Amino acid sequence: MPLKIKTLSFALPFHMGSVNSFLVEGERGSILIDTGSSNCRAAITRELECAGCAPGSLKLMLLTHGDFDHIGNAAYLRNQFSAKIAMHADDCGMAERGDMFCNRQKSNFLIRQAAPLLFGFGRSARFQPDLLLDDGFDLSAFEVDARVLSIPGHSMGSIGILTGDHDLFCGDLFENNRRPELNSIMDDLVAARASVEKLRQFEIQTVYPGHGRPFPMALYLKNKPNAT
Ligand SMILES: [Zn+2]
Repeated sequence: MPLKIKTLSFALPFHMGSVNSFLVEGERGSILIDTGSSNCRAAITRELECAGCAPGSLKLMLLTHGDFDHIGNAAYLRNQFSAKIAMHADDCGMAERGDMFCNRQKSNFLIRQAAPLLFGFGRSARFQPDLLLDDGFDLSAFEVDARVLSIPGHSMGSIGILTGDHDLFCGDLFENNRRPELNSIMDDLVAARASVEKLRQFEIQTVYPGHGRPFPMALYLKNKPNAT
């Protein structure tokens, strides 16, 4: 039976657009991909409850990377739903220290100082993950036919989740606000391009980005046949 994908979209603070989380439902349980920013805590909790999530049925929370708008409710939802948190080791410091620049190459001093104040990376939102993921990690133990792909670029520890139905949750490697394209914020553009090249090896139908609407991978590749 194909996985059921529910897109949950939430407004970001300071008119910064919106961010997506995805509830992926298998036959015997669900996983949540990304958790939004802390300003949408009540909304995402309600959405999960309405979808029937309860302790025991929500098997795992997968974080595509460590930015505030994707991990802001992970610690809270772990308490509410007793679901483990999983992410790549290279972005763990962002969650543990509440510092989205701790593993990034470039950082403007002012933004670095302002980010924790602006983006709600408070102590209560910080956490240590329960499970560390790396390339090829098989998610079938969590009742979902999917695997993890390491796709660095936006951050060192960025991951994608490729399902057995050939759909990809790409975090912030791609965005689709106006059209499918590489996310405008890249920490390492060379790594991002290598990640796109890596994805060409796989059969991918629909891409579910962290920001913007889902899109067919073929549409992106049609516009970028040889290079990113
Ligand atoms: Zn994001």
